[in-house]
Amino acid sequence: MKIIEVEAIPLAVPFSRPFAFASGQATAADHVLVRITTDDGLVGHGEAPPRPYTYGETAGSIVSVVRDLFAPVLIGADPFARERIRADLGRTVANNAAKGAVDVALWDLVGQACGQPVHVLLGHAADDVAAAHMIGLGTPSEMVADALEVNDRYGVEAFKVKVGRDLAHDLAAVRELRRELGDSIELYADANRGWDADTAVVAARRLADFHVTMLEEPNPADDVLGRRRIVRESPIPIVGDESTISLGGVARSLLDGDSQAISVKVARTGFTDSAKIVGLCEGLGVATTIGNQIDGMLGTVASTALGCGLRSLARHPVEVTTFLLMTDDVLTEPPTIADGRIAARQGPGLGVTIDPDKLAHYRADR
Ligand SMILES: [Mg+2]
Repeated sequence: MKIIEVEAIPLAVPFSRPFAFASGQATAADHVLVRITTDDGLVGHGEAPPRPYTYGETAGSIVSVVRDLFAPVLIGADPFARERIRADLGRTVANNAAKGAVDVALWDLVGQACGQPVHVLLGHAADDVAAAHMIGLGTPSEMVADALEVNDRYGVEAFKVKVGRDLAHDLAAVRELRRELGDSIELYADANRGWDADTAVVAARRLADFHVTMLEEPNPADDVLGRRRIVRESPIPIVGDESTISLGGVARSLLDGDSQAISVKVARTGFTDSAKIVGLCEGLGVATTIGNQIDGMLGTVASTALGCGLRSLARHPVEVTTFLLMTDDVLTEPPTIADGRIAARQGPGLGVTIDPDKLAHYRADR
């Protein structure tokens, strides 16, 4: 089996409402669909969400790097040779979302060629996983209304609360959420580097009072001593996310004492490097959880496959609800969340089909 075509197709799907966090805001899914075709007619897909406020990538840069640098390496390659392809793509630094989407598309192809779903190839730890919902920044009452709706409609019982603005405002929101949702619901928090170290130390203690289980990226990790002080003084684990975006970056962060748990994202490390990161963390006794890069439906299916594939990721609720913000998408069959859980697709590869009419409608390059 050889790759004969690699496409990077920019999409534009509006959100029903903006999603806000300390480092930015998303108003539409301006994702890039990576489509890889082989000589025996298989087609693999991956989704690259551009997040310039985190990785510096734009839809335009993703399209360019896939078309100009990755496609020449991929054409003629065997999708099973993922380690060789990983090394070849690695000669281009950064471009995490572009590389992640290519890797997801390769696994989609390998699964289709083997007649097996990706989560089974990864290790089949579970058939489904608990879902977690990210609550974007808003007024406390808006944030509570969002959580209650998702809890009521989908049975979700784990919530990541975006924080990292004015601390009093953040704490008011968390207090309201805890009061309205009750004690059995998991709340964890993500500041997206919005605080300085002094504020973050106070925040961590106060969040612990509301039984918040962990705190992601409280301050910029480049504030090296400040970050280590937060880790030392926080009563709850500090989670690395945008400061731990590669295998080596995770190792450095853990050894330097910058984080105590790791958020893994298919959107930036695909399946291959996500699995390597999980293995590294398992060996060090460090918890991992699956985060969300404001994924669309395809990214959600991929995150679910990773969570169902690897045992340590299946333990914590997986962030899978951002596709609910999208007014539509290019998959024929959207993901479904019921009773607080999301199941892995049973079809070979990712088990998805792209709707050609929707793709024609939402592609941004025609
Ligand atoms: Mg985060």
